[in-house]
Amino acid sequence: MSIEQNIRLVEIKIAAACERSGRRREEVNVIAVTKYVSLERTKEAFGSGLAHLGENRWQDAQEKWFALNGEGQPDEAGKPVWHFIGSLQTNKAKDVIGRFTYIHSLDRLSLAEAIHKRAAQLGIVVPCFIQVNVSGEESKHGMSPENVMPFLEQINGLTSIKPIGLMTMAPYEAEPEDTRTVFRALRELRDCLRSESPQGSQIEHLSMGMSNDFEVAIEEGATWIRLGTILVGKEEEEQ
Ligand SMILES: *Cc1c(COP(=O)(O)O)cnc(C)c1O
Repeated sequence: MSIEQNIRLVEIKIAAACERSGRRREEVNVIAVTKYVSLERTKEAFGSGLAHLGENRWQDAQEKWFALNGEGQPDEAGKPVWHFIGSLQTNKAKDVIGRFTYIHSLDRLSLAEAIHKRAAQLGIVVPCFIQVNVSGEESKHGMSPENVMPFLEQINGLTSIKPIGLMTMAPYEAEPEDTRTVFRALRELRDCLRSESPQGSQIEHLSMGMSNDFEVAIEEGATWIRLGTILVGKEEEEQ
């Protein structure tokens, strides 16, 4: 399937999920996750109008980042907006900050300090999502829900970080409906932070929903969905 065909199909599903939950289409932003595909396919995705691109490892992303954003490329308006969605090693913050506009995987103080330090050097403020392990699965990154409020207080003085939302990954379920409790819990946590935490008023966005479960995530309030396989596809390793 071409990416344009995929976009059409996904848009129909997004529109239907918005309709079911009384939301407006503009409330839902799409990140095209290009981690499974080649540079060529990534260029095709961007050329098809997918302006927000997501990658989860700097090592794998850098070839694409330099090809699309490097010297001699079109001006800012003609470049993708990059989202870092994978777990970020503290010593990689210097590579990622300044290149990826959004960080979706802020999950510990040491990382917050590394992001702040690099961002302050560059004179920028980095919008970040705090990654929450709602399901409690051991294989998942992210802090437990009860730790988010104290964490917001801890990072309050790190002025080069702007916490704008929460991110989670639901366990893979054969029946997407079974992810609903996870997404609902993230939304309720966001609502609680906004009303109870002095620092919580900035926490607005919900980064949740992947190829398998984005429709349920939209129904539960997702404002950023992260789509790889269903949107840009998944390529086998090429020899
Ligand atoms: C890979 C990945 C995605 C996209 O996965 P698909 O199931 O292919 O849509 C979304 N979010 C994160 C954090 C990922 O690592």
